[in-house]
This record gives sequence, C-alpha cells and structure tokens, in this order.
Amino acid sequence: MKRLLYGICAVAFCAASCLCFSQENDQNAKNEEGKEIVKIEKDLPSGGKILFQKVGQEAAFATLDVDGKKVEIDAFEPISRFPEEARPIVEEVWNQLGEIPKKTIKVEIDVAEAPDAEEWAERAKSRVLYWYPKVVAMLDGEEAVDKIPEDFTIKLIFKDMDGVAYAAGRSITVSSRYIKRNPLDFGLVVHETTHVAQAYPRVREVWAMEGETDYIRYFITEARSKNHWRVDPERSKYTDSYGITASYYDWIVRNVDADFIKKIHGVFRSRGSVEKFVVEEYGKSCQELWDEFIKSLDNQTRQN
Ligand SMILES: [Zn+2]
Repeated sequence: MKRLLYGICAVAFCAASCLCFSQENDQNAKNEEGKEIVKIEKDLPSGGKILFQKVGQEAAFATLDVDGKKVEIDAFEPISRFPEEARPIVEEVWNQLGEIPKKTIKVEIDVAEAPDAEEWAERAKSRVLYWYPKVVAMLDGEEAVDKIPEDFTIKLIFKDMDGVAYAAGRSITVSSRYIKRNPLDFGLVVHETTHVAQAYPRVREVWAMEGETDYIRYFITEARSKNHWRVDPERSKYTDSYGITASYYDWIVRNVDADFIKKIHGVFRSRGSVEKFVVEEYGKSCQELWDEFIKSLDNQTRQN
C-alpha cells in the first residue's frame, strides 16, 4: 500500500528534477550493531534528571525524568519542549554531541491550501532543519555542509491532494489528506528531505534511487524504531524499490562495503547505472548479491 502511495513521489520527483550544573557521567559503549552509544546525564537545578543518548550518527534523544515521570524528546524537536530551566543544559549537551547543525537552513511553510496542516507542518519543519544538513554530510561529506548557501531555503507545501508527498528541486509537497490519516508518518518528511539533498539529474534506475532514499529513512533516521520492511525470500526482488531495496542495501553496507551508499550517490550524480557499478566494483551482479542476502535471511531464521 505504502509503495503504491509513494509512487507519486518517484514520478513527480523525476519529472521535476531528475536532495551545570552537577555530575556528569560519560559512558561510551556499543550496541549490538556495533554503533557507538554515548550517554550523558545531567541534574536539573530544581530536581529531576535528563539523560542524553546518542547512537552512532543516527538517533539522538533525551529522556527527561521529573517526579518519576519520563518524557522522551528527540534532538530534532524544538528546545521549547523542555522546561525553561533545562534549556541551557540541553543546548550545551546537544552542542557537545554535534546535534545542533553548524549550518542552519531556512524552511518556509505554505499551508494556504490546507490550513488544518499548520501544526503538523511545524513539526515537519523541525525535522527538515535537523536532517537536511545531516543527510548532506552523509552523502557529500562535511565540506559540502559548509558550502550550503546562507539563504538556502526548502519550501514545505501542503495540498489537499491524493498520494503522499513529492519533492521537486527545493520544495516538498505533502498531501494534507494523507497526514490526516497518518499523523505519525514524519518519516515521509525525511524521505522527501533526502530527495532534496540528493539533487540528482534524471535517474533511470528509480528503484535504486528510492532504495537509497528509504535506506536513509529506515536505517539511519528511524534506526531506533526498527521499523524495517519485511523481505519475502520467495517473492521479493532487489528492484522492488523503497523499503525492500533499502533492506538489501543495509545488508550490503554491513557485509560488503560500508561506503556503498556514498558510492551509489556518486553514481546517480554522474548519471551512471547502479547495476553496472555493482558488477565493476564488487565483481558480482545485483542479483548475485541479492541471492547472498536472501541466503543470510534463511540462515538467520534457522538460527532463531
Ligand atoms: Zn521518493
């Protein structure tokens, strides 16, 4: 269903643009995927605690613990979600962890055609502000973040339309009907923000591009939720696109080449072919790598 809904995104995108305080405990550990976990705990002046956690380059969130009530707040959420006394502490820690983007872009919201979407649009905006420089850093490196122009602006437009959302150049159009039915699907904002950062010329292997986009969405920005797509070993194909292709890329990143995403990003930028690139780079076809990936799923099931 989701794949069908995203269809509009691919088509429209390609047609249009074818991207304190007190004690401090720093504990460095690694999770089961080998990602570094940083934890910092701070006391609040009037009692209560905040535990900051960062996992790899992906999830960064704070758990506010006041009077035994715990509230989790992500690094991309506005600082106004924290009580006033906590804000300087939060700013200091997010800065220390590199969570405050050194480059701030502008985001303009247009809800003229869908005034109901305003609140959702504000929450979407904070994600665009947070993720755009991070996705640029992931795909093009930190130097590229420094080169983002001062007046770089992404437009977030809400329309009463079918489908989900699409990106064209520096604008992202979201269906106000869709978000009414799926108010928690902020991942679509990350997906479209990634398209703005990709800024590809015309792409022929759209499945491969959408796989990269959803890899960033599901395996980087939503890594903590484990909201991964189910691959059917009998029916799925590497060209299924979106989450299926993203799961295949995740296996490649972990087992074949950690720089795979950066490399195919270069392939898209230079109007190349991912199918050709994979054979040249790894001496195996996309299908052969897919078969190895499926075999690894069989082994996992047997082990469980
Ligand atoms: Zn897309």
